[in-house]
Amino acid sequence: MYRFYRAGEEETLALRGVSLTCQRGEIVAVTGPSGSGKSTLLACLAGLDEPSGGTVRIAGERISHRSEAERARLRAEHVGVLYQSGNLLDHLSVIDNVQLARDLGVDRSPTRSKPGQLLDLLGIGSRAAAWPDQLSGGEAARAGLAVALANAPDVLVADEPTGELDSASEDAVLDLLLQRARAGTAVVVASHSPAVAAAADQVVTLVDGVRQA
Ligand code: ADP
Ligand code: MG
Repeated sequence: MYRFYRAGEEETLALRGVSLTCQRGEIVAVTGPSGSGKSTLLACLAGLDEPSGGTVRIAGERISHRSEAERARLRAEHVGVLYQSGNLLDHLSVIDNVQLARDLGVDRSPTRSKPGQLLDLLGIGSRAAAWPDQLSGGEAARAGLAVALANAPDVLVADEPTGELDSASEDAVLDLLLQRARAGTAVVVASHSPAVAAAADQVVTLVDGVRQA
């Protein structure tokens, strides 16, 4: 996959021929220094951005080089996205955030858990009625994960989800990602954390947009 950004005369080669495959049940860790292309890669994999060249397939379906509407449909059907922060809408309670994500998704019951069940599963059932700004960092990460998992996605794409957490909260979130993978989700996670790399089935290291051997 290739992704070039152009601004006037300036061209940034954010991804230069990066290939990866993540199977169901597998965790792929994407590491590399800041600016190496991790977020660009994840955005392309999630169908949030379009590669300049190459193809992204999810569950056998091509998600790249389609209309915005089609990509949105495929995302809703197959992909959950978790960011370092900003996963929750401030004016909705935790459970309403999860419910909204579910309402916007595709009904693939019986695999989808109800929002309350999902929060219980992630260990924050008691915080269902809380507002996002009342949550600790670890709770916010888990609530964000609940939003990302609201539609039982085939692929979970997580961009430095533990970057702002203390190590105990980081371990808890990492454990939840592992559990999701063991339950059959493909998990692609960008992280600087050695613990994430150690837990991953595959580690993809990027330097200047190139995958290292
Ligand atoms: P990482 O997540 O590893 O820090 P990024 O994928 O965010 O790296 O960035 C890779 C490169 O692409 C960097 O040089 C960054 O400045 C550049 N870049 C990222 N997004 C844009 C954009 N929207 N426009 C122009 N350049 C960008
Ligand atoms: Mg990044």
